[in-house]
Amino acid sequence: MMMTDGDRRIRKVLVVGGGSAGWMTAAMLGQILRHDCEVTLVESDDIGIVGVGEATIPPIRTFNQTLGIVERDFIRATQATFKLGIEFVGWGDRDTRYFHPFGTHGRNFDMVSLHHYWLRARAMGDTSSFDDHCIAWALARGGKMARPVADQRSVLSTFDYAYHFDAGGYARFLRSHAEARGVRRIEGTIGGVDLNSETGFVEAVMLADGRRIEAELFIDCSGFRSLLLGQALGEPFEDWSHWLPCDRAVAMPCAHPAGPVNPTPYTRSTAQEAGWQWRIPLQHRIGNGYVYCSQFIDDDRAATLLAGRLDGEALGDPRFLRFTAGRRKRHWVRNVIAVGLSSGFLEPLESTSIHLIQANISKLMGLFPDRDFDPAVSDEFNRIALGETDRIRDFIILHYKLMRRDDAELWRYTAAMDVPDTLALKLDHFRRHARHIARELDLFAPDSWLAVHLGQGNLPEGLDPLIDYRGIDARDWLGQLRQALAFEAARAPDHARFVADAMA
Ligand SMILES: Cc1cc2nc3c(=O)[nH]c(=O)nc-3n(C[C@H](O)[C@H](O)[C@H](O)COP(=O)(O)OP(=O)(O)OC[C@H]3O[C@@H](n4cnc5c(N)ncnc54)[C@H](O)[C@@H]3O)c2cc1C
Repeated sequence: MMMTDGDRRIRKVLVVGGGSAGWMTAAMLGQILRHDCEVTLVESDDIGIVGVGEATIPPIRTFNQTLGIVERDFIRATQATFKLGIEFVGWGDRDTRYFHPFGTHGRNFDMVSLHHYWLRARAMGDTSSFDDHCIAWALARGGKMARPVADQRSVLSTFDYAYHFDAGGYARFLRSHAEARGVRRIEGTIGGVDLNSETGFVEAVMLADGRRIEAELFIDCSGFRSLLLGQALGEPFEDWSHWLPCDRAVAMPCAHPAGPVNPTPYTRSTAQEAGWQWRIPLQHRIGNGYVYCSQFIDDDRAATLLAGRLDGEALGDPRFLRFTAGRRKRHWVRNVIAVGLSSGFLEPLESTSIHLIQANISKLMGLFPDRDFDPAVSDEFNRIALGETDRIRDFIILHYKLMRRDDAELWRYTAAMDVPDTLALKLDHFRRHARHIARELDLFAPDSWLAVHLGQGNLPEGLDPLIDYRGIDARDWLGQLRQALAFEAARAPDHARFVADAMA
């Protein structure tokens, strides 16, 4: 490539860290920066990775496609299964069960949204649940899986899917993808960071063995340590633990129960005495963990309770993790961009961390800097990144706020707590008018919010006034929808068969 005097292109990028964030970033940089840019990743075998991010949401498929990854290879390499949504157990009331699907509840047949008709039918004695109107749940509850279709006349056009996968397997898979595209990997532990004394920009990182690695752009993927953004540049952390008080987790995978294995095509989240338990089925094992609040339970007790609630034989010892909910005030400062846990942490209740990694990577690609590092570019990056994180935060808090359980201190606290104004507005509007108020940068679509509101028993006082002008008794239509869902679910293959076919 010919160079000109005005060439301000960045020639050296260093990715610090080799967890999911590091290798997802390196794979994308390797794919996009094909010429004239050296991409290096440094990771420490001594420190290792968090390695527990196993449940995802549908945009991961776009990320893999952008990298040119073939689904078959990915599923084989990561022991992946398919995910249609999350079943919530014990959220709201102790005996509540509901499903947060990827997709919609039916298809709107009128300008008044379907959930208003369902609420009206319910008031007239209909006993069907809101979940009964969604194809993702019709498939999921029977252990079935199908591909969405484009034909909008079919109920199979109204859902989407993501994956459960082995996080270590994904990092290894992306590593070979990245290395095949020229990314250089250095193993070593960073012991120091050199800042330019005038500009405060990072110039190099120092490894414990004395090696010095220079770059122009640094991507901080160092996990909770936040080596560059948090430690070297001192970017403050905004603590959200008054809204999201869970601060620990214990993880303990188990074997599938004996007999033929048909993994559930969904994640399960069960509210417990001091937090909640995840269940994530992969091909070769089930991932389990208890996310809890250390004010209300100690580590040993949490591990014992989790061990007693597994579906199969425990595989390995419990692994404990500590965290604080919140985020750095900015994700991009000078020539450092944080991706992954170094930028902040939201508990995995809605499987959003890997998505936030992906979101920062796509913003980086949309707002890639040159050596001038114009602050207008990083300001825009931060505006979007913070908005995205804050909207997801609100959605997660919604689950805690809508708890009506009186049997544990944690739930009494979260039911009574104040929530961010942005969420208070949505709660109030839904309670009074049964409408979801959407805001810019909301990752979760109205149907996701409806699933949680209605699933956790937040039944609204009013309905859309337009419903009374329409003169439609939707009970027949809702009944026909349920029949169409049952028909499609019955002819779909079992999830295990679907996974085997996807790998063939
Ligand atoms: C309990 C729990 C459950 C989770 N479940 C989910 C989920 O279901 N879905 C989801 O999307 N997300 C989930 N997450 C989040 C997910 O695990 C992370 O977003 C993801 O793994 C990315 O982590 P990371 O790459 O940022 O950090 P890490 O995996 O911690 O990687 C950090 C890297 O930095 C390197 N490093 C650190 N310090 C140094 C140093 N001094 N020198 C050299 N290298 C260094 C480490 O060696 C490592 O390679 C969960 C998180 C937790 C805590």
